[in-house]
Amino acid sequence: MSFWIDTHCHLDAQEFWPLAHAVRARAAINNVVHCVLPAVEVGNFDTVRELAHSTGDSYALGIHPLYVRRAQDDALDHLDAALAQQQGDPHLVAIGEIGLDYFVPELCVSPQRERQEHFFRSQLKLARKHGLPVILHSRRSVDRVLKALRDVAARGGQWHGIAHAFNGSEQQARAFIAMGFKLGFGGALTYERALQLRRLAASLPLESIVLETDAPDMPPHWLYKTAEQRAAGAAQARNEPAELPRIGAELAALRGISFEELAEATTRNALAALPRLRALVHG
Ligand code: ZN
Repeated sequence: MSFWIDTHCHLDAQEFWPLAHAVRARAAINNVVHCVLPAVEVGNFDTVRELAHSTGDSYALGIHPLYVRRAQDDALDHLDAALAQQQGDPHLVAIGEIGLDYFVPELCVSPQRERQEHFFRSQLKLARKHGLPVILHSRRSVDRVLKALRDVAARGGQWHGIAHAFNGSEQQARAFIAMGFKLGFGGALTYERALQLRRLAASLPLESIVLETDAPDMPPHWLYKTAEQRAAGAAQARNEPAELPRIGAELAALRGISFEELAEATTRNALAALPRLRALVHG
């Protein structure tokens, strides 16, 4: 029997309301034994915590780079206080998701660019202060993310955590791994045209890889609706944590290893990246 951990799943997203528990149950039927639910802003801290408690899953608290623009100035103080308050909660496993996003043009220029950096670096310091791993979002920003990690850790200090939805170069992958990170792979690797990503997912050390769906986003190719289909009225498909084993099967085939071996390794890697999961996952 193979067990899977979805290390990044927005089960609290509006797309899943009010059926989040049914979505989670479908994942459980597919042997997804655990989901990590990252927060995106102060306003959903309570939701991810309550949902994780009700499903037996885990959660992370943080302010996502795409939500920095609308965050209040005291959002970082709220995060610090919530982390202190929830410190004894075994379901709290990381700070996340946090990072930098230079894909959206308005966020690449002053003052939003500096505000993103400020929020990211402050949250990295909070991770050090509270002794928690980090779940990183880096879109068109991997080198800046790596630089911030180096600056905050100082003198070759190590991190625990996951570079979520990794989509960089081999050199960048190796830099994350050298700092202690695992790399999150998901639906993006199921597209045949994603040549570099598939090559990396196939060739990086097995112990550096964790799986994630990023549901409801990042639909794998078998769910994806093309622009043509959408123009004809089809809605873009919603990804679900239940898809994780099929994504795993694609990765196992790319690496030329068995489905079982991949499940075992990625589960072990998730426990190493987010050590508090060990108390919650019994696979
Ligand atoms: Zn996410």
